[in-house]
Parts: sequence; C-alpha cells; structure tokens
Amino acid sequence: MTTDPLDLLQLRLGHRFGDPALLRRALTHRSARRQHNERLEFLGDALLGFLVAEVLTQRFGQATEGELTRSRARLVSGEALASLATELRLGEFLELGAGERKSGGQRRASILADAFEALICAVYLDAGLDTCRALVLRLFAEPLERLQPGEALKDPKTRLQEWLQSRALERPKYQLRSEREHGGVWQFEVECQVAALPESVSGCGGTRRAAEQAAAAVALERLQGHA
Ligand code: MN
Repeated sequence: MTTDPLDLLQLRLGHRFGDPALLRRALTHRSARRQHNERLEFLGDALLGFLVAEVLTQRFGQATEGELTRSRARLVSGEALASLATELRLGEFLELGAGERKSGGQRRASILADAFEALICAVYLDAGLDTCRALVLRLFAEPLERLQPGEALKDPKTRLQEWLQSRALERPKYQLRSEREHGGVWQFEVECQVAALPESVSGCGGTRRAAEQAAAAVALERLQGHA
C-alpha cells in the first residue's frame, strides 16, 4: 500500500487516476514549476461550462436562454468554484512557489477556483467525458439543488421582489429614464432603485417591461454578489 497524500484526494473525488502525473499537474500553480496547470484550467473552464449547461437544459425544460445563462454563471462563478474546491480541501494539495505559499495562496479564491477547473480537465483527460460528467454531477448536486426548480423559471422582477421581501427590505422602484426610436426600433431605459444598494442600476430593452426586467436582473446580481 502506498501512502501518497494524493490518495485522500482521489478518494474524495471517487476517481483513481490512471495517470497520476495529470493529477499532480492540475494541482501545480504557475509559481511552483514550469509544468503548471494553466492549460488544464483553460480546457476545464470550457468543460465545466458545457457540462453545467447540459444538466441545466435537461432539468429546466421551461427555462429561457437568459435564465439558463444566469443559472450557469451562478454555478460556475469563481466564488462557487472556490467553495467546491474548499469542500475538497484542494488547498492542502496545491503546489505553490515559496512566495505564493507565504502570502496564503493556498487559500486564495482565484487560485482554488483555477485548480478546481484544472482538476475537472485532468479527470476528463484521464478517463473521458462520461467519467468527467458523472463527477461534475456529483460535485454540483448540492448547488444544483439550491437553484430550486422554480427559481430559474421566475422572471428577474419576481425574484428581486421575493429576495427583498424575504429580508423585510423595501420594494424596488422602477423609473423610465428614456425612450428612443430609431428606424422603427424602440429602446427603453429603466432605472431601478433598491434601498439595499448604494446606487441605482439600469437596464435597457425593446419594451418598458423588458427594460425593467433587465434592470431587476442587474440589481439581483449586485445584491447576490455575482456582479
Ligand atoms: Mn479560471
């Protein structure tokens, strides 16, 4: 029996690497060595975007493209990936240069999120797309659960109002800023004021209602910290 510390991580992942060098590379920050994880991160980013998009379209049959896009952005945001990396305790396995280590690089959200992306790619290269998909579904099970089936179906104005209501905060105020017509195409700009935000936000659309929805979506993103 080996006592490779990476055994623990492979147990947590539920995947034993046929090529352990891939795993080590995924965990190597560019400050440590020339053979680092940035190229894996690049492909991992695309794989995650694809696999999360795939599961969202399967689960939310009624959601619009905009709702699916927002849900995906939430699930694969740097913050979300860093928290998944923290659950796997990836920081303990990272190889960093001395400077990065001293400055606490193993706890930095951007480094953790990047290593997580690289790890997803390493599993793909090691065992193929089906294994990678199964891993992503398992790691994202909870975040997907938290999205709630209805959540992605509701429009931004409704979600904003519910978000504020559930925190006993004032209702948002919408105000038409401008309406312009150019060659028969109308463009509306609406400002949305939310007491909980330091400044008002605005949105544009081909109808006043669409502009309000766009402004509400911006306000929600700011409030939820995914701007
Ligand atoms: Mn990245």
